[in-house]
Amino acid sequence: MKGRERNTPCWCGSGKKYKKCHLNRDAQPKENPWAAVEANRKAFTQRKCSAEGLGLGACGGNLIKAHTVSRGCNLEKIAKNGHVMQYTANMSEMNKNGGKLTIDKIGIKNASIFYGFCSKHDRELFSCIENEPFTGRPDQCLAIAYRTMSRELYGKDASAHLRDTLRSADKGWPIIDQYFFQFALEQIEQGNEFARRETRHTQIKLGTLISEDNFDGLKSIVFEFSEIIPFMFAGAWSPFTDLYGVELQKGYTDEILEQVIVSSSATTTGTMVCVSWLTSVNAPGKAIAEQINNLPVGQQSSAIIQMMTKHIENIFFDPEWHRNLSNKHRMQLEILAASGLDFMGSVPSAPIRLDLDFGLPNPKRSFEV
Ligand SMILES: [Zn+2]
Ligand SMILES: [Zn+2]
Repeated sequence: MKGRERNTPCWCGSGKKYKKCHLNRDAQPKENPWAAVEANRKAFTQRKCSAEGLGLGACGGNLIKAHTVSRGCNLEKIAKNGHVMQYTANMSEMNKNGGKLTIDKIGIKNASIFYGFCSKHDRELFSCIENEPFTGRPDQCLAIAYRTMSRELYGKDASAHLRDTLRSADKGWPIIDQYFFQFALEQIEQGNEFARRETRHTQIKLGTLISEDNFDGLKSIVFEFSEIIPFMFAGAWSPFTDLYGVELQKGYTDEILEQVIVSSSATTTGTMVCVSWLTSVNAPGKAIAEQINNLPVGQQSSAIIQMMTKHIENIFFDPEWHRNLSNKHRMQLEILAASGLDFMGSVPSAPIRLDLDFGLPNPKRSFEV
């Protein structure tokens, strides 16, 4: 490498000169990238109201700690001594063991929180789900879907800085490994940007529907249980395949993928599970909701717990129920939770096993909203 090349922009795309970036990087002392990832997550946890600029009126008051699975009416019902269980991927452990997943206790005060709304919007937008019993009304399904998508977006915004954080994590590595690492970072960034764009797209649409009191733009199938089910969740994903692994969306880069948005809510006597989608022709969320609904009633709960564990990180289990699972059932949940959980953001592919009975109550009915 002669003088001229040393002053050209580095091949890794950092925007720095080669001599200030990857020159002699293999000889530099190694860093601990995982500490940097954690620091990044904290630093970029945005503190901005997700309802700003969506035609939902001006913000007011401080940003508040919001629960996506509401604490009072939901998590308390499945908690033991104030705790629930959540699958977590420990980044540094994952690096060592090639995909280490643990299930950890989490206090319900800290479960599923995000600082995504000002106190005024939080009060106005979610009073219908926080202060009124959940009955699966259209305005309630819409409010919950909107809050869920806002949290998804919040997470993707935080991940947007990952590439910059990890750029120098290949210090002390052989040159060939540096190439692969930087290439992987580029892929991760691109993947996150696509996901962020889709999530934002849906989040804006939902906000607009609320501001227009338009309850036709979101459709749901609600499954009603007469008991509390031992897991609570709120999340969304862009389905590529349906319940049986058949393709729903291709995922071309110029395509805005549609999401399926799911949540559970405690009612006065039991639980309701909403599976929602933005109204469109051949909505993939609709296909999935209908497939669950068309299963024999005895298999619906099993399909729901497995799909949610597979696709959603924001899912919490009753500690006692989880502890009493047989090995076979615990193993299947672990496989599903770990599926797609890698640095490259792969699509989860572990199959749902409808033959497994998790001993859950059956829905007493389902209805369309
Ligand atoms: Zn470089
Ligand atoms: Zn606000």
